[in-house]
Amino acid sequence: MNSQDYIKREDKYGAHNYHPLSVVLERGEGPFVWDVEGNKYYDFLSAYSAINQGHCHPEIIKALTNQAKTLTLTSRAFYNSVLGEYEEYITRYFGYDKLLPMNTGAEADETALKLCRKWAYQKKGIEENKAKIIVCENNFHGRTITIVSMSTDPEARKDYGPYTPGFIIIPYNDLDALEKELQDPNVAGFLVEPIQGEAGVYVPDEGYIRKAYELCKEKNVLFIADEVQTGIARTGKLLACDHEGVRPDILILGKALSGGVYPVSAVLADDDIMLVIKPGEHGSTFGGNPIAGKVAIAALEVVKNEKLAENAEYLGKIFRDEFRSIESDMIELVRGKGLLNAVVIRPKGAKTAWDVCVAMKDNGVIAKPTHGHIIRFAPPLVITEDQLREAMNIIKD
Ligand SMILES: *Cc1c(COP(=O)(O)O)cnc(C)c1O
Repeated sequence: MNSQDYIKREDKYGAHNYHPLSVVLERGEGPFVWDVEGNKYYDFLSAYSAINQGHCHPEIIKALTNQAKTLTLTSRAFYNSVLGEYEEYITRYFGYDKLLPMNTGAEADETALKLCRKWAYQKKGIEENKAKIIVCENNFHGRTITIVSMSTDPEARKDYGPYTPGFIIIPYNDLDALEKELQDPNVAGFLVEPIQGEAGVYVPDEGYIRKAYELCKEKNVLFIADEVQTGIARTGKLLACDHEGVRPDILILGKALSGGVYPVSAVLADDDIMLVIKPGEHGSTFGGNPIAGKVAIAALEVVKNEKLAENAEYLGKIFRDEFRSIESDMIELVRGKGLLNAVVIRPKGAKTAWDVCVAMKDNGVIAKPTHGHIIRFAPPLVITEDQLREAMNIIKD
């Protein structure tokens, strides 16, 4: 079978909810992937930043396979011997009292919303069913009905109504709008991405996250950070909120929490918030399973031991400098933090960002356009300087 055969088979038997670049991958190692014809590529998407630790990191795979041979799933009807070890590890790692383990980013976001609402009624004293949560335009928090109810992206939202009420949508990076909506005493939380990844790597003004946090504190409103994409070293710090010294009241993690090896997501908070959810009031069959725990510990160890945040910070500067030095009238703008970057493409004749991605693929770098004219560049954080420079030369060509 060649690539075209694989693509035809997916097209025939799979739902058409994605439009992939026409490359069929079968193997990965570090920053590289290989297609079914044996061609090698630099992976500059990293599965939307899930593969920060590189493909098939040996330490993470070892943790996965060892645990897979021992015990995979117990459900939370019983204790398992790994969950406590993982809870202790991750809460110390990020500095919170408690973990609520889930599997996907969307589930963790949903969990944070439920936690915020329950806190609103039980701690803040908001009247039942009146709590509101502020979110931002162009957000991306996942694909559930409630999450698309907060979305302003017509593609994500259209024809999925009726929508979940209780959200106030304000422009991103707009402190005046936030301050105004915070006057409403029924506001319980502010859910925000420290950098809007899916929207096209929108980096807010310096000080935005800090000031937004302070405004929330003045009004006893929970500051909830969705760091599913920005977290775990991607932007040059362990968390993107660390750039401004902000510790979110509720922290949402996913993607690279497992190094892309297994679906593992997390909601972290202190007791005052987390303990409003009592036994039976929330859960997940797979959440907190022993494989997830061992894989996440290994993935977080790799981030620390291999200094991935420092590497992202250092290489991110090189990436942006190199890209800005490319002379092409198709490059409108280069922006980002650490190794989460985007380039805004100005179409030239009939050539769009999609054609740029196809040309890069033909030369050995894979990336994907978002919103038509933006290309996100987010290689695994284990990439070396030499490898990054080699990839930059391919991109330049
Ligand atoms: C990817 C992403 C999600 C959703 O994660 P899934 O695992 O796909 O459900 C949520 N928030 C942000 C910021 C993301 O980038």
